[in-house]
Amino acid sequence: MQIENLIGKDDLIVVTGGGGFIGGHLVFDLVQRGYKRVRAVDIKPIADWNQVFPGVENTQGDLQEREACDRAARGARFVFNLAADMGGMGFIETHKAECMLSVLINTNMLLAAKKHGVERFFFSSSACVYAAGKQTDANVTPLKEGDAYPAMPEDGYGWEKLFSERMCRHFREDFGLQTRVARYHNVYGPHGTFDGGREKAPAAICRKVIAAKMTRSRSIEIWGDGEQTRSFMYVDDCLYGTKRLMASDVVDPLNLGSDELVSINQLVDIVEGVAGIKLQRIYKLDAPKGVRGRNSDNTLIKAMLGWVPSIALKDGMEKTYRWIYDEMHKSIDQRRQVYR
Ligand code: NAD
Repeated sequence: MQIENLIGKDDLIVVTGGGGFIGGHLVFDLVQRGYKRVRAVDIKPIADWNQVFPGVENTQGDLQEREACDRAARGARFVFNLAADMGGMGFIETHKAECMLSVLINTNMLLAAKKHGVERFFFSSSACVYAAGKQTDANVTPLKEGDAYPAMPEDGYGWEKLFSERMCRHFREDFGLQTRVARYHNVYGPHGTFDGGREKAPAAICRKVIAAKMTRSRSIEIWGDGEQTRSFMYVDDCLYGTKRLMASDVVDPLNLGSDELVSINQLVDIVEGVAGIKLQRIYKLDAPKGVRGRNSDNTLIKAMLGWVPSIALKDGMEKTYRWIYDEMHKSIDQRRQVYR
């Protein structure tokens, strides 16, 4: 089933984390498709949202608080719960308690959804739920959904996601709230965070390469030895898969990620290719680097939803690079005007 067959154009759709990266793209997509009643909720002041759209009910609220969740879910028929206190490895390895406190968002949003009779509830889980012992080799075997158990996820962030996945399951089994859960694997694209400490590898590498070009530096710093491997999913593929999963009958968590495995060094090669530059790489071996290798096994999602990622890493990185390039130049121009 397509989302258009599930959600009517007048149904109230709530996107939590609507001021963030994926939430902002989802709100845009829903508006573009003619959904008239979209409520976006985020803890950040609206002026700081990654994207803001007119005609959307944009609201600020701390969804760790029960009353804010109650307000967010009131009248809603569908909830996409994307809010989480998170970031790249540099953030989640050093903010474990903050990451775990997102359990309050998920608990209170599930309770509010139950109270207000929400028809369907989507939860954005993560590949960080997978057992660390299965990700020790750069030449990793892609992770199947069953590999999350016996549980030994990423400390902090991964435990919170795994716990919240199970809460979704039990709200469905015990209370009849229809929940759908995707395990996102590294999502990237324009309008994502690229500086400040929460950015992830694709955006961080683009920023470093652009900064090297701007300052005529000949080197960049890479976290780890660059041989750790990952897969990266372009945000449009993520949105398409999210909507397919939401509209489906699949109640167990599904991987939603690219299976195009690359090392961080290969990712740097791609960005250097887009930038038309070759830089010396300085490896920071004591920096946070996460597991040694991680890839998504997409057998299940392909069989159940017919979903496969459609955007090659090189193409997605080119779009991401161009957006970050423009943003970095825009902020320099703005600073120049202030000093004039
Ligand atoms: P993001 O950080 O850009 O967006 C999350 C948003 O949640 C932020 O705007 C943040 O302000 C908001 N938020 C945090 N605490 C809140 C609170 N208490 N109340 C209200 N809003 C709050 O992250 P994203 O990349 O858009 O991720 C969206 C979801 O997908 C998250 O749940 C994340 O854990 C999950 N996920 C993302 C990735 C990825 O690679 N981007 C990978 C796996 C899972």
